[in-house]
Amino acid sequence: MQIKILGCSGGIGAGMRTTSLLVDNDVLIDAGTGVGDLPLEALLKIDHIFVTHTHLDHIVSIPLLLDTVMGLRAEPITVHATLEVINILKQHVFNWLIWPNFNLIPDPATPFLRYNEIFVGNGVKINSKTITAVPANHVIPAVGYQIDSGKNSLVFTGDTAGSTNFWHDVNQIGNLKVLIIETAFSNAEAELAVLSKHLCPATLAEELVHLQSHPAVYITHLKPGEDATIMQEIAANPKTQHCKALLHQQIFNL
Ligand SMILES: [Zn+2]
Ligand SMILES: [Zn+2]
Repeated sequence: MQIKILGCSGGIGAGMRTTSLLVDNDVLIDAGTGVGDLPLEALLKIDHIFVTHTHLDHIVSIPLLLDTVMGLRAEPITVHATLEVINILKQHVFNWLIWPNFNLIPDPATPFLRYNEIFVGNGVKINSKTITAVPANHVIPAVGYQIDSGKNSLVFTGDTAGSTNFWHDVNQIGNLKVLIIETAFSNAEAELAVLSKHLCPATLAEELVHLQSHPAVYITHLKPGEDATIMQEIAANPKTQHCKALLHQQIFNL
């Protein structure tokens, strides 16, 4: 199983893309601006999109992807998400006003967009990999994901503040090799991090104390302009100095 980071920034700008992970060539975890870098032939191979939550930096490419590939492929694209997230997408994105309702196009029996409701803790098997939602704690309904090749697992937190439920689930994973965890703000913005339910280096250190295994830990969702400061603060703390910044285009073979 290969996981390629299409975007891992908290914002946009030259060389920066918002959150998206491509698993093998058929699954996206979130669909931020990084999806737009893929050539058309790669876009055509995406069959499944697992959504952590509906903030725009994580979903902006879903409507555009559907519009780009539909008519060029026979099969629908399936969006996997919790019921709360599906309902937000239906009500606020695919509502004919922001974007057409591709769940009814070209006809309701064979739509371009299908939804699959997922539940935290219940794995969805896609070819040889299993994708399981794990708990998150954000300002709107959100989950993270465990992506398991059968041999190794990668866990991606999505956007989250601290969550004991998350660590409970992650500590059950016997083959965890990589943990991607967000740290959106620097310590100077700790208050904003709490309000928006993101992490800063200080709260990252408090969270990582709960981790009982020893995966490689990568930091994502750094706010542009604060990225160097955030990573310096993480490197300065003995509890987090092993963490590395996740890189745009980074590849994990698991
Ligand atoms: Zn968010
Ligand atoms: Zn975000």
